Amino acid sequence: MAEVVITTDRTMMSNHHGKEFLGFGATGVPVLFPERFWYWLFAPKMKTKNGIPWEASYGIRKIEAKLVDSGIDTLVVDPDYLDRYLKDAKVLLLSHHDYFGFGPPSSTFASIFKTEPLNARSFAKLMESEPIRKAKERGIKIIAGGPSAWQWNYRKDLKEKWGVDTVVDGEGERIVVDLVKKALNNEPLPDFVVMNNRDAPTLEEISEIKHASVNGLVEIMRGCIRGCKFCSVTLRALRFYPYEKIEKELQVNYREGVRSGILHAEDVPLYGSTDYIPRTDKLIKLHEITKKYYKTMAWSHASLAAILAGEKNDKMLTKVGEIIKRDQDWWGAEIGIETGSPRLAEIIMPNKAKPFETKNWPDVVVEAAGVMQDVGLIPAMTLIVGLPEETEDDVIKTIELVERLWDFKAIVMPMFFVPMGTLKNKDWYKAYELTETQQELLKLCLSHGVRQGKMILRNYFKEHVYLYTLYPFYYTFIKAIERTAKKKGYLIDDPSELKINSSKSQIVS
Ligand code: SF4
Repeated sequence: MAEVVITTDRTMMSNHHGKEFLGFGATGVPVLFPERFWYWLFAPKMKTKNGIPWEASYGIRKIEAKLVDSGIDTLVVDPDYLDRYLKDAKVLLLSHHDYFGFGPPSSTFASIFKTEPLNARSFAKLMESEPIRKAKERGIKIIAGGPSAWQWNYRKDLKEKWGVDTVVDGEGERIVVDLVKKALNNEPLPDFVVMNNRDAPTLEEISEIKHASVNGLVEIMRGCIRGCKFCSVTLRALRFYPYEKIEKELQVNYREGVRSGILHAEDVPLYGSTDYIPRTDKLIKLHEITKKYYKTMAWSHASLAAILAGEKNDKMLTKVGEIIKRDQDWWGAEIGIETGSPRLAEIIMPNKAKPFETKNWPDVVVEAAGVMQDVGLIPAMTLIVGLPEETEDDVIKTIELVERLWDFKAIVMPMFFVPMGTLKNKDWYKAYELTETQQELLKLCLSHGVRQGKMILRNYFKEHVYLYTLYPFYYTFIKAIERTAKKKGYLIDDPSELKINSSKSQIVS
């Protein structure tokens, strides 16, 4: 039995039926159907052997690898089997993308439905489970990290209640070994550690994963050059993984039976580039290597400007798309639109349109959408609603942009900006009030999503017989949303039905 156990809750310890995008369902609130059905749809149990999961989230695998490379006896354990492994463990490490549901998709759903999202409920259930309570009584040390570590700042009451000794916010490679050794030796632990840019590990300090990552995700770079005001990635130093490092992780996944995966970066098309212009030769090599191991693949994130710049420059997306589509018809990525207002874009993301001008941002979005449609990239696109700098006119500009995307095969998801101060309140999600224009935007995105979602769904599940058998359940789910939304008047058949007059300048009451 290992001295150090790493775990997370069910919504994170799942491969979402092998479809990463379905994981977003775990950020929803369990309405319309029982909670158990939500778990089954979006976060089914992971395949395990003696309680050890086949795949685990990439962040967990990175920390496991760092500890193992440092000679520390570490195991990643499925949350349903903690009773077996916590009896002898001295340190428990936790990781999560969204501990309390404060992240953008979860907080949006929570604010709309005025109740806690599934991921937050699931994490609370884990922390109040008997194995963790008993281990804490025995004196186990608990260290929490991961991309949502910052959220503990707003729930110090729960940190105290659940006995979390230390929270690490930021890249953990340079601190985790030291912290775990201190915990093992019963030395005092810091309450909260923030790892800044200067603490960023070098490529040599970043260990390669030892076991399979969820849905074969492998990182190709860290950091982002665009520096958007609302984004924490901006603070991270830019590092590109060399091909050999990436290939080693692809091999680990392949060896453990993973045949499909995701390249992870904040902007995959900018792999190897520091000037906003994609390096097509580098991308071609990267994708050729990836396709040696993965039959099908996707990108985690991409930027519209890089896609458009690369295609205009030397047909980057077409060339890379040809490699990707050898065994698949299309691929997915998460892409941020954020706003349709050049004025707001100038304030919150002055580099997002580069190498194009921010004043042309809506045209960049629409043109890039055309390129993606032609090549077969189907994105999940995000908008940010409610930023402090946002005016009514900015929201109208965003509505106009989404109208231009009405026939574009994609999901457009508005995310609410929740002021940090609100999060201190236990019922923070009840505080958010939408303006009428924001409600119209939401209505437009929901209608677009239902319209396009049904078409995308069939493509999404047809890759595999097992997945195809799941298709009716998701179709039923979308139909239930459609019926309910229609009854409440939240669905439109055409953008002209919006309560905004033809000059698009004001709400028609
Ligand atoms: S482009 Fe994306 S990852 Fe980069 S700073 Fe902006 S929001 Fe963050």
